[in-house]
Amino acid sequence: MRRRGATEAVRTARTLREVRRIALLGATGSIGRQAIEIVDAHPRLELCALMSGGTPLDELAAPRGVAHVQVGGDPTALLEASEPDVVLNAIVGFAGIRATLWALERGVTLALANKESLVAGGALATAAQRAGGGLLLPVDSEHSALYQCLEGREPEQVDSVVLTASGGPFRGRSREQLAAVTVDEALAHPTWRMGPKITVDSATLANKGLELIEAHWLFGIPYDRIEVVVHPSSIVHGLVRFRDGAALAHLGYPDMRVPISFALTYPERAATPVPRLDVAAGLTLSFEPPDLEAFPLLALAREAGERGGTYPCAYNAANEVAVAAFLAGRIGFLDIAAIVEETLARVDGLPAGSLDELVAADAEARRLAEGRLVAA
Ligand code: NAD
Ligand code: MG
Repeated sequence: MRRRGATEAVRTARTLREVRRIALLGATGSIGRQAIEIVDAHPRLELCALMSGGTPLDELAAPRGVAHVQVGGDPTALLEASEPDVVLNAIVGFAGIRATLWALERGVTLALANKESLVAGGALATAAQRAGGGLLLPVDSEHSALYQCLEGREPEQVDSVVLTASGGPFRGRSREQLAAVTVDEALAHPTWRMGPKITVDSATLANKGLELIEAHWLFGIPYDRIEVVVHPSSIVHGLVRFRDGAALAHLGYPDMRVPISFALTYPERAATPVPRLDVAAGLTLSFEPPDLEAFPLLALAREAGERGGTYPCAYNAANEVAVAAFLAGRIGFLDIAAIVEETLARVDGLPAGSLDELVAADAEARRLAEGRLVAA
């Protein structure tokens, strides 16, 4: 109760009065390192726990006096021991599910970069948040943008939302032209510097597919009211259309430090070193519809989301398997979508009533996708 009172005071003051203890999971990754920069620069933010998948953490932990450190495994014990005010989940993939549920169940603020956990476990996560009563602040730039445009609005005032996609390095290419693209070409993203898995997802548009499902769960908006448009310069991160005809958009240079800082310092909007948007220099914004034929993973995500149950979980699992195989040089670019499509056709998609059932659905989809790899 005392904690809630303190939060309300902070909210009114719009500035952090008390130290906020952050558990940073995925600390050695692209998001993790940018988060450390934000925490280091802010007098009221403090790291209380660090976790990575395999990389040692001593160099990050020792200078900051972080006592709770873990490499790999189940994050639950680390989270229990470190008692964070905020969990920043920047783990890549379904491996982030336990941390997401841990925070939501306890009402501990969750700053969520790990979209895969919400895509796979949307129903469980939503129920956990309802029970825990805490904040879920998206770190994904588009969802942070939508969150800010939507803040304080009743759902019935909203007509629809628009997610923007950069289009990735292969925008404008046909299916035939995509058949022979290399791993290096897929990793050369035009506007964002990110970890390898999400960079490949951006090239296939699976990232936007995951984000479509993520937006559905975060904001409770039906799929037919979530539109995806390609916007190559990544200046507009999201747009909300309201029922009165007004539309609010969120603009800024593509820099993940902005949504990371927003989530960690919410509702303060602390200063960041990101350049101010220069409008007078000639800001031109262009948009185009996505090419669903060349990038079938976007349409497959929409279908998986609409079918519900564990279809999104299977979509994510098969995509993780296929992306890892593509990065390892075992399959071609177009095989990624083929593997996801075939996996989705073979799973039962039944809803998961528990974490165990969700983990089983994830494992079954992985098994099917791996089986298809052997054939490829
Ligand atoms: P990354 O590959 O750079 O880093 C991943 C981090 O997760 C590393 O610290 C790694 O050690 C850790 N990790 C991997 N497996 C783990 C496990 N089983 N347990 C604990 N830790 C594990 O990835 P990234 O680009 O930082 O992306 C992280 C997440 O944030 C992804 O879900 C991604 O979709 C999302 N995201 C990233 C960006 C971006 O700009 N990088 C933007 C939006 C969303
Ligand atoms: Mg994004």
